[in-house]
Amino acid sequence: MRLVLLGPPGAGKGTQASRIVERYYVPKLSTGDMLRAEVAAKSALGMQVEGILARGELVQDSILIEMIAGRIALDDCVNGFILDGFPRTLPQAEGLNTLLNDRLMKLDVVVSLDVDEAALLARIENRAKESGAAVRADDNAESLKKRLDIYQKQTAPLIAYYKNKGILKSVDGMASMDDVSASIYSILDALKH
Ligand code: AMP
Repeated sequence: MRLVLLGPPGAGKGTQASRIVERYYVPKLSTGDMLRAEVAAKSALGMQVEGILARGELVQDSILIEMIAGRIALDDCVNGFILDGFPRTLPQAEGLNTLLNDRLMKLDVVVSLDVDEAALLARIENRAKESGAAVRADDNAESLKKRLDIYQKQTAPLIAYYKNKGILKSVDGMASMDDVSASIYSILDALKH
């Protein structure tokens, strides 16, 4: 099973991806986690992208495509994977296509978490108030607004792109976490004949 979880920042992609990992035993490939690990390790790549992450901007496509190419080539991806946070631009989607074609693989489904952006902002403002401090450098209302803006411009076009390919499934991302999971499971269960 090879799938992409698509949705704006703050929509709960990470949580849903982790649940999918436990239920379907496919690894989660989160480009955000990978990049944060590079930053934490102070690697050359980490130093290069640290500011970009802190500002909530997108890291360049070629870096992401190379990172995912290396990750997909590992043994644990032979039976599938879930992509969380990638692709985020049309060139990344095209890059992914090429990578998969080269390996005679294809995506089974792209699950889009549809959300109300105003409600998302309210959600993250509450989260900031409750925790008293931002957990992530890029996790505050101002940064979320910027990331939502970038999402609209750069990532939202992927919805039409995958719809055209006939592999897009939309889920109401504003439902409760459990209801969102249930909707995703029914989509994924239907894939397994
Ligand atoms: P995330 O945890 O998915 O929200 O990613 C955190 C940050 O990592 C993003 O705000 C970007 O700066 C960077 N990032 C993660 N995935 C990508 C991607 N596919 N393309 C460009 N930048 C990315």
